[in-house]
Amino acid sequence: MDPVTDALEEIHHRLGALREGRVADYIPQLAHADPDAFGIALVSMGGNTYRAGPADTPFTIQSVSKPFVYALALGDLGPAELLRHVGVEPSGNAFNAISLEPGTGRPANPMINAGALATTALVRADGPAERFARVLGCLSAFAGRPLDVDEEVYASEAATGDRNRALAYLMRSAGSLRADPVETADTYFRQCAVRVTAADLAVMAATLANGGLNPVTGVRVVAEPDAVRTLAVMATCGMYDGAGQWLLDVGLPAKSGVSGGLIAASPGRFGVAVHSPPLDASGNPVRAVAALGEMARRFGLHIMHNSGLHAATVTGAERVERAGRSIAVVTAQGGLEFTETEALLYALRDLTPPEPGRLVLDLTGVSRALPGAATALAAVLADLVARGHRVAVAETLRLERAAAQGHAPTWAVFGTREAALTWAAGEDGA
Ligand code: GLU
Repeated sequence: MDPVTDALEEIHHRLGALREGRVADYIPQLAHADPDAFGIALVSMGGNTYRAGPADTPFTIQSVSKPFVYALALGDLGPAELLRHVGVEPSGNAFNAISLEPGTGRPANPMINAGALATTALVRADGPAERFARVLGCLSAFAGRPLDVDEEVYASEAATGDRNRALAYLMRSAGSLRADPVETADTYFRQCAVRVTAADLAVMAATLANGGLNPVTGVRVVAEPDAVRTLAVMATCGMYDGAGQWLLDVGLPAKSGVSGGLIAASPGRFGVAVHSPPLDASGNPVRAVAALGEMARRFGLHIMHNSGLHAATVTGAERVERAGRSIAVVTAQGGLEFTETEALLYALRDLTPPEPGRLVLDLTGVSRALPGAATALAAVLADLVARGHRVAVAETLRLERAAAQGHAPTWAVFGTREAALTWAAGEDGA
């Protein structure tokens, strides 16, 4: 047992007693779902999985496919072109609403059916078979295993999905859908009938939380900017007409579907998925909404919440005596983004001796630096050198290369802290 599993199990145990909500039955096959089915899975950025309840029960992905296909289309078309065809506005409408912009017929919200139909039609392919193959390949890469289609659910929706076909025809007549409406709806029905488990969905959500890199397989599935954009759309549009309330109460990018699946992503931390078929009035799974609300409160996950994660970036700011010389040493670890770099530069400034002084920046524990962070750091280091300081950096990230365009890397670079300290204590000119 471990604390994460303990917390999930405790939540699972308590919320299993919730009896509200109704299983969707407008797709006849979905009505057979067990209302008591309830599984939770969480996948960390280290690729570790935690679960509570049966997390391997298969069900169809339905609308939870929408963000992943949106990410695929982003990669195919680029953000500007995709935006020309599909908006990014929370429409406040139900999943099956006729939610098209007046005049253009452009669907406003990519996370409900109209926008999702249009998005699926935009996936680059030579025909419907290849288009669906690419959709399935993408969903499988997100899940880290080959997924398949539940043919019965597909046939059931294909037989009854006139409203979605009607939406496709409406967009076609308004000029916002260039593809064939029947083919588009069919590909979309297959996409919605892809079979997953809560454990799969957790890996898929974790891949988005990890910037598009699957933390279990190590495979890059989509580019980082596309993952970030997808998470943003999920944050504003992912929960049907309950999206605003969700952002207030839970505050995580999420997507739900009519079969009772729900994913949420805590960027840089984990992806989580819940499967529980009974839905509330907005079409969101009741137990999943309650479970995520509890987790968010308990672990301070709301995206507007200041996590204090950055506090430990600078792990040391001290003066070290070496060969009778005083060296200012600043040590940092983790990822360098805005807040961390600001803290690092502040510590550096605080500790800088009068020139000509000796400084070591130990970045051997830094795992990544945003380009803006590397540039800012390079500018400060170049300035210290120009002012006559003897500056050594211990790092493995090759910051100097990132900085080389703006500033000649005139500080000395070493692979270890020890080598940097030895050099910093040496004779000037050596
Ligand atoms: N296939 C379902 C439909 O289009 C998906 C809806 C949903 O999960 O929101 O009706």
